[in-house]
Amino acid sequence: MKLKSIQIAGFKSFADKTIINFQKGLTGIVGPNGSGKSNVIEAVRWALGEQSAKSLRGKKMKDVIFSGSKYRHPLNRAEVSLIFDNSTHFLDSDYSEVKITRTYYRNGESIYSINDKECLLRDINNLFMDTGLGEGSLSIISQGNVDDILDDDVEKRRSIIETAAGVYRYKKQKNESKKKLEETQFNLDRISDITSEIK
Ligand code: ATP
Repeated sequence: MKLKSIQIAGFKSFADKTIINFQKGLTGIVGPNGSGKSNVIEAVRWALGEQSAKSLRGKKMKDVIFSGSKYRHPLNRAEVSLIFDNSTHFLDSDYSEVKITRTYYRNGESIYSINDKECLLRDINNLFMDTGLGEGSLSIISQGNVDDILDDDVEKRRSIIETAAGVYRYKKQKNESKKKLEETQFNLDRISDITSEIK
């Protein structure tokens, strides 16, 4: 799996549609202070489903939408697409190219899609789970995050290691199964109560 390109429109400082192709050999993005380097990385995290406005350096989610400048009006919509080369089918998808898109409107409406087909955030989380790029991924370490990781308590650090080792998916599935078992047991107990009442 390789991130081939990113399309950004109306996201933070990127008012106009901007396409960045990540060609072979690209190792970094350089530019003057405030030119939008971090915004590119945040666009990646945001498209992958980041829900915390604070971790995107904003107060509310609508802060990701271009807020206007001296020469331009604010926009009403932010949209970011990530296009992945999936020719090895590393991502669990039949497509050899996977495009995920997140669109957000100032009125709070939010749309996610995979290969231009509308989906739920959960579908995107599932697609990237344990690939190294999913929810809570360690592939992207923001400025200041290193200190946070070192300062975290033992449990939190353990969950970081579990995520990196790829066992998080199984832990999540185990907990879901446990919950279903408990619900089933509850239903069984209820049936047992009812049958004994009928007898
Ligand atoms: P540095 O090298 O200092 O870390 P950088 O190149 O990483 O800077 P960013 O932090 O990505 O720059 O971009 C900051 C710029 O993005 C600021 O000029 C800020 O005004 C602009 N910006 C952030 N959010 C928005 C928004 N919603 N609308 C318009 N511009 C925005």
